[in-house]
Amino acid sequence: MSIQAVRGTRDILPDEVPAWHRIEAAARDLFARYGYREIRTPVFEETELFARGIGAETDIVSKEMYTFADRDGGSLTLRPEATAGIVRAVIEHGLLSTDPALKVYALGPMFRRERPQKGRYRQFHQVDVEAFGLTSATVDAETIELSLAYLEACGVGERELVLNSVGDRSCRPAYVQRLREALRDEAPSMCADCRRRAETNPLRVLDCKVPEDQSTIEGLPRITDHLCAECAAHFAEVRRQLDLLGIPYRLDHRLVRGLDYYVRTTFEVTSGRLGAQSSVLGGGRYDGLVKDLGGPDAAGIGFAVGLERLALLVPAEPPRPRCDVFLMPLAAAGLDRALRLQRSLRQAGLAAMLDPEGRSFKSRMKQADKLGARFVAILGEDEMARGVWTVRDMARSAQREVPEEKVLEHLKEKANG
Ligand code: ATP
Ligand code: MG
Repeated sequence: MSIQAVRGTRDILPDEVPAWHRIEAAARDLFARYGYREIRTPVFEETELFARGIGAETDIVSKEMYTFADRDGGSLTLRPEATAGIVRAVIEHGLLSTDPALKVYALGPMFRRERPQKGRYRQFHQVDVEAFGLTSATVDAETIELSLAYLEACGVGERELVLNSVGDRSCRPAYVQRLREALRDEAPSMCADCRRRAETNPLRVLDCKVPEDQSTIEGLPRITDHLCAECAAHFAEVRRQLDLLGIPYRLDHRLVRGLDYYVRTTFEVTSGRLGAQSSVLGGGRYDGLVKDLGGPDAAGIGFAVGLERLALLVPAEPPRPRCDVFLMPLAAAGLDRALRLQRSLRQAGLAAMLDPEGRSFKSRMKQADKLGARFVAILGEDEMARGVWTVRDMARSAQREVPEEKVLEHLKEKANG
């Protein structure tokens, strides 16, 4: 029996890769224009980083992490998200002391042991964007605008921005207490998850998707009615600036997001084209996190885009030609010249190929077609004898003879012209 990919992992095959290149190139280009630089952190970290940085009561930490004992007894975890590792690196290297308004982005695989389904994998990829040290509502609006600009740059049109404020450390605890009290009466009639969350993490009850629980949840106290004056003013200013920029959004008081560290602004972008896993990106403000993890008291705000889901939304592009020049030495004696020309063409920056198996003319022409070859250079017995190549321009179906000593220059000029 042959070995198969691990459940919940996925191969990204060559036909899919162009969409990924587009997504990655758009990230590098766009984020740089907003002042972000790339950071790369390890895919595994000390388990404690995630327990402290994400919150022990979250779904991610309580049941989705890939945690393993290292040989020396330490506990390591494959990163389930990027923010905690980035914050660790920012603190460890003192990046905020040289740049108090640090903006970084990262790109790479994340790992969560979830039930695999379309758009939900155990190894998946995210683009992650983080801005540190900035507290103003302008930064919230800019970050949200950037997340939408990114989708736009990837060619994604149909989407919805969902927005909420989850308060901060001065107003949320009182709200959570209220919620806990309301749930004392309601939870016994709710689903098992809600009954558990009512005790461990009442905010998570708002995430419940069980149909029977929905009317109960609608009746629970709403965070937006219990914001302190500062949080309410901040939220109003974020919304004013989004209006100013002409960015539509839907308010959803139940958008609390899966990570404990969020304060004030939380947001998510969904697409109706994704089916059940409709969220393509999510983010928010996390002002206390850097300090909690042992760094300076610096604000933070960011978002993470799920690239598997984004790739599903990126419009298909016509396949690009993979070959500039396909070389066809038809006589065995022509192989040496063809190999030298192939090397020179590649050194000149062109995609040059030949059929090393030396199959029939017909099957080689088929191969050239399949590769989308723009030019075919033929070296038969007759060409050999006269010291020329026959160069065929495939798009024009025109061909001409070119002397051996000029063929490299000719092909370079044609292929680049
Ligand atoms: P969901 O509601 O789908 O579980 P989440 O709130 O857990 O998402 P975040 O932690 O905010 O997601 O991650 C940001 C983005 O990463 C999501 O919007 C989604 O596109 C993507 N994502 C999260 N988990 C997975 C997964 N298991 N497989 C593929 N993509 C994922
Ligand atoms: Mg999730």
